[in-house]
Amino acid sequence: MRGARKSYGAAEIIKGIDLDVEDREFVVFVGPSGCGKSTLLRMIAGLERITDGDLMIDGVRANDIDPSERGLAMVFQSYALYPHMSVAENLGFALKIAGVPVQERERKVKEAADVLQLAHLLDRRPKALSGGQRQRVAIGRAIVRNPKVFLFDEPLSNLDAALRVSMRLELMRLHEQLNATMIYVTHDQIEAMTMADKIVVLNGGSIEQVGSPLELYNRPANIFVAGFIGSPKMNLLKLKVASVGAEGVTVTLPGGQTLTVPVDADAVKAGDELLLGMRPEHLRVSPNGPFKGQAMLAERLGGLTILHVEITPELTLVVQAEGGDTTPLHSPIALDISPAVCHLFRPEGPALAPLHRA
Ligand code: ADP
Ligand code: MG
Repeated sequence: MRGARKSYGAAEIIKGIDLDVEDREFVVFVGPSGCGKSTLLRMIAGLERITDGDLMIDGVRANDIDPSERGLAMVFQSYALYPHMSVAENLGFALKIAGVPVQERERKVKEAADVLQLAHLLDRRPKALSGGQRQRVAIGRAIVRNPKVFLFDEPLSNLDAALRVSMRLELMRLHEQLNATMIYVTHDQIEAMTMADKIVVLNGGSIEQVGSPLELYNRPANIFVAGFIGSPKMNLLKLKVASVGAEGVTVTLPGGQTLTVPVDADAVKAGDELLLGMRPEHLRVSPNGPFKGQAMLAERLGGLTILHVEITPELTLVVQAEGGDTTPLHSPIALDISPAVCHLFRPEGPALAPLHRA
């Protein structure tokens, strides 16, 4: 996509998207509800006209190509199965309409049913299927068409938590098996992190950042991405710059101690306000740490413990500790962190670039 825009009347919903999706990539569009994920996917599918800019598929401008001619198949959150047809008929319907001979049709339906473990359900009607089985039929309808690109719009949102996890794995397996290009929309950053080769973080109709899951996790380009990717969320606290130098930017912490973060100090000066970002899993309870406080709550999840540590009445840091953590509640403790894994952001959003040491 190049400079792709979408307006409804005066309201611009998609505000100029430049994006490359490579052959066979699993790309996830992620962002909060209403940010334009479905609209962008529907523009690719041809279900929404592109107001301005270009959509190229295999080097050909596709803006004006009919949806049925684009070689794409879309799977929706609402499975949209035909209730009066069996699973086999649902799977084969698009091929029947396209005039595919009966034998080839049956072969393709059988193949898709095998891939999706639906072979024993081919005679059932949708109402006699579970949610996960219905979703698999919806995916199967896309598979039989052998599309160049699969488009998924929140396909797992109607499933319960356990089924979502197993369908997530099935979709990843399917991606490997079919070796297909997939574009997948979700508001769930965990789905994005676990499934994607490439994540596109959208916010208010614009791209905030594009990268692999770990690029976004390790190097969020701005406060929005920092807060959106990772669970529990990154701790963000407003601080003042004490000094700047060749080793980075030194900030003053709530207790008065300082921390020097190895980031580019260009255009930063003492007294500036910045936000310090610290992931919960990077903070550790340690007697000489620079953050003094008290753990007020402990969420014990078995494999890990989430501590809520009050530093000041206005500032609580979330710490991810081990499952067997024995930190006492309501008594003085200290938290430490390695400066190399800290992030600094300007109040208006962008991250300060890390220093590349020789
Ligand atoms: P998401 O899928 O990220 O939740 P959508 O792409 O569905 O978001 O919607 C993005 C924005 O576009 C929303 O603010 C929505 O209200 C608006 N929108 C979607 N479709 C239309 C339409 N047909 N007319 C006007 N506004 C629309
Ligand atoms: Mg949507």
